Amino acid sequence: SEAFLSVRDLRVRFSTEDGIVKAVDGLSFDVERGKTLGIVGESGSGKSVTNLTVLGLHNPKTATVEGEIVLDGKELVSATEKEMEKLRGNKVAMIFQDPLTALSPYYTVGRQIAEPFMKHTGASKREAKARAIEMLDKVGIPQPAMRFDDYPHQFSGGMRQRAMIAMALICNPDLLIADEPTTALDVTVQAQILDLLKDLQQEFGSAIVFITHDLGVISKMADDLLVMYSGRAVERGSVREVLRAPQHPYTWGLLSSMPRLGGDTAQALTPIPGSPPSLLNPPSGCPFHPRCGFTSEVGGNRCSTERPELPEGRSAACHLSGEQRSTFFIEQIKPR
Ligand code: SF4
Ligand code: MG
Repeated sequence: SEAFLSVRDLRVRFSTEDGIVKAVDGLSFDVERGKTLGIVGESGSGKSVTNLTVLGLHNPKTATVEGEIVLDGKELVSATEKEMEKLRGNKVAMIFQDPLTALSPYYTVGRQIAEPFMKHTGASKREAKARAIEMLDKVGIPQPAMRFDDYPHQFSGGMRQRAMIAMALICNPDLLIADEPTTALDVTVQAQILDLLKDLQQEFGSAIVFITHDLGVISKMADDLLVMYSGRAVERGSVREVLRAPQHPYTWGLLSSMPRLGGDTAQALTPIPGSPPSLLNPPSGCPFHPRCGFTSEVGGNRCSTERPELPEGRSAACHLSGEQRSTFFIEQIKPR
């Protein structure tokens, strides 16, 4: 089936006092209707910037965007702010880690959920209220009609997260962008919210882009996976393929350094040595080379001079041969 969201060679640069930050540096991916793409990477890998750009939320005064973002046949890089405004909350919605970035403390929860519905559908106040109460019920807020007039501070953290999901989904968006939506919640509430998102996706058929640093969450939520490093995708495939037989040394590092959802968090985790790359002065060649233990296996100075490309389909951007990858993966990573 045809991609609902298609991103091609996306480049996002910010001018700062210290120079140009290459936040996204040649990124391509597709998301199909009803499917979930997981994007994983350390902070600063460009995963959040990518999605703010899809929503047109970057600051056009400081950011330069090149490449193509096509949503349901419409090119968004060249879209006006007015056109983006029409898409946001309607065709495309976003849920964040912190619901208080989406919910204002000054208005009731119910009003804030009902508002986008009135704005985008032209519904009356009464219709929008009924629909908002229905959504509050769907996301599991008990006695939704009574909670409609509560302010955000009267909700618990988990309830605010649910309210934000209700607000994001009230217009039945075709694309939902979820950026670390459950990171701040305890494990039980996190599991409930993830289940809820999956149920709502089934019901509404939305495509979801799910951004996280947590591979446990990804394995539960996503169909396909994109691993990002230094503003680029370094590995792509189905979640099953990538988690079972990752091909990129950075993904191997991620797998050994991350606890899994519901797993034994006391297990010894091996962090990836070194620190994330500077986006002001990204490393030459393969951006992972200063932290990679396999450069000598590639030989010469190829890793520090030649940028590995990411081929289409199931692939990794790495100079190691396919045979080397499987050998080193089995030697390095104990399957869990
Ligand atoms: Fe490591 Fe070289 Fe592969 Fe980059 S290209 S991940 S430095 S082996
Ligand atoms: Mg982020």
